[in-house]
Amino acid sequence: MYLLTRNRVALRRWLFYLAGVSMLPVLVFSAHVVLEYQRSSREAILADLVDRTRSRAVEVERVLQATTQSLAALAESGAAQAGDWRELHAHARRFIDRERSLQAVTLVDREGRLVFFSGAPYGAGAFAVGDTPSVDVVFQTGRPHVSTAFHRPVCPTPVVAVSVPLRVDGEARYVLRGILRTATFDALLSAKSVPEGWVVGLADSQGVLISRSLNPESFVGRSVAPVFLESMRRGDGRPSAGQTLDGVASTSVVLPVFGGNWYLGVGVADTVLNAPLAASIRHIALLAAVWLALAMALAHRHSNFLIRQVRLLVAFATTDVAVSRPKEGLRIQEFETVLDGIEHTRHRTRQALTEKADAIEQREQVFDLYERAPCGYHSLDRQGHVLRMNETQLRWLGYRLEELVGHPYTDLLTDASRARFAAAFPVFLVKGHVDNLEFELVCQNGSLLPVAVSGSAIYDAEGNMVATRSTVFDLSERKRLEAQLEQLARTDPLTGLGNRRDFEERALHELQRARRLDRPLAVLMLDVDRFKQVNDLHGHAVGDQVLQGVAQACRAQLRDIDLLARLGGEEFAVLLPETWQTEAVDVAERLRASIATQAVTLPSGLMVPCTVSIGVASRETADDVVATILSRADQALYAAKRAGRNRVMVFEPADIVG
Ligand code: GH3
Ligand code: MG
Ligand code: MG
Repeated sequence: MYLLTRNRVALRRWLFYLAGVSMLPVLVFSAHVVLEYQRSSREAILADLVDRTRSRAVEVERVLQATTQSLAALAESGAAQAGDWRELHAHARRFIDRERSLQAVTLVDREGRLVFFSGAPYGAGAFAVGDTPSVDVVFQTGRPHVSTAFHRPVCPTPVVAVSVPLRVDGEARYVLRGILRTATFDALLSAKSVPEGWVVGLADSQGVLISRSLNPESFVGRSVAPVFLESMRRGDGRPSAGQTLDGVASTSVVLPVFGGNWYLGVGVADTVLNAPLAASIRHIALLAAVWLALAMALAHRHSNFLIRQVRLLVAFATTDVAVSRPKEGLRIQEFETVLDGIEHTRHRTRQALTEKADAIEQREQVFDLYERAPCGYHSLDRQGHVLRMNETQLRWLGYRLEELVGHPYTDLLTDASRARFAAAFPVFLVKGHVDNLEFELVCQNGSLLPVAVSGSAIYDAEGNMVATRSTVFDLSERKRLEAQLEQLARTDPLTGLGNRRDFEERALHELQRARRLDRPLAVLMLDVDRFKQVNDLHGHAVGDQVLQGVAQACRAQLRDIDLLARLGGEEFAVLLPETWQTEAVDVAERLRASIATQAVTLPSGLMVPCTVSIGVASRETADDVVATILSRADQALYAAKRAGRNRVMVFEPADIVG
């Protein structure tokens, strides 16, 4: 896991590692089995070693015991008990003829003298006694004894002597000895008696070799190997490890023979002892090598397969979203699941893309609606600074968005509108909406744009107002129509002059100004003389033409600052600012004369003359409404009519009185 989570791994190498590591438990188990097998086979060999040692020892013992018993029988014979040595000598010679293993029988007295030697006629010469210490032991212990190997003077082959006491009256007076060739034991301990790699040795109590299965010519007569000696001394008959005289590492068991007079040892070479282990290790190594090769081959095959599958998976996964996967190819169940997941994701992605495209289109539509709506939109922050503004309003204003964002909206308003905004905005912040608040926007080119603003507040999740959402309607057309209507309402359609209402409003304005500045001001009231007759004689249309002619004549005679209006019917009024009464009379006279000289020419060529009567009145200090002055001018007009018409009369209080 550590390998997978912390490091990137190469699949092939990783599978190789896995194959290698998977062998470990088998190897450990095999090693355990081998060691167990080795231990048991070693124990079996060691048990065999002990058995073989024991059986060899028994063989040797049997030969010695047989000799001992034969000698004991000789020692108890009547001749021996009677001390008839000649007879005993004859017995011995017959005995040797029967027992081929025995070479000779000798009789030795307590002084170590040889009484007879069976190999020579009785009484023939004196022979030396071999291995006299052995004879001494028998006299001392009274028990049979086997000697070391020694050479007799007459015979070059080594021999040993089996000595038994010859008792007379229960006392050991002599020792009867059987001489055995060591070769007797060589047959028992031949190389054939033990398996290959084993060695058998027979030694006397001093550790001098009597017989040996391997290379006896080199070692017999010499001291045994130290490990043999050590085992002799220990005397426990347990296996010990050490080198043989040949220098071979071995394990050996040594057992006493004939009560410890001799020792028989059997050794088995360590190579034999460990042969099963070596063979097992070779087998295991071979098995491991085969196993490893097989595992590596499988790992190689599987990694190639996996890599091909992964490539297929990647190929499927990276193909065009629209391409669906082929049904064949992937043979790993988990990869199929991954592909299912990828397909599912692709499906979801396609859906999401469609939804996104729809959302974008909708957003664009909304954006388009917002930006290019026929009305203006904007959002302001709590301080009344511009956050957003649509293209329509920007176009009206002639600004770019970045020039306005962050600036107060009031920067775009006339002074009057700014004041209205300042009053309305705090109320809006409290109420959260405002309807049809009329402002005048100051465009970038200086022109003014009348608008009506309606807005509502946008709140965040905590209920704090974060922005306004305002619609702005262009009122200029409405204002224009209103102005047009206003103009129409003030204009006399026949003459194009202002009507009574227009005259009264503007005249009031002039009056107030004149009063404020204490300036002169005069008013003329003008009525067409006997107009009814014109209508009656020439028709209403000619009457209208006459009225238009009067209007033109008046306008031609007046200054721009003078107000001229048709009050109704064939009655006109003129207001003359900055004009004293006398000047006004002059103006009236000029008007009257101008009109009197004019005439409307009919299609028939007939001239229709026209005169007017004019009443003049001027402002007096107390006058605060125009009607007062008009009334006085009207009285003067009335006086002019009465005076015969086609004349100018000035208001005189006397007239009223009169
Ligand atoms: P006077 O000298 O006393 O003023 O005599 P008059 O005939 O002018 O008398 P009055 O003022 O009573 O008559 C006015 C006439 O003007 C009556 C009416 O038929 C005529 N009139 C009023 N308005 C119009 C108009 O718009 N067009 C025409 N053609 N005639 C009009
Ligand atoms: Mg009239
Ligand atoms: Mg008239």
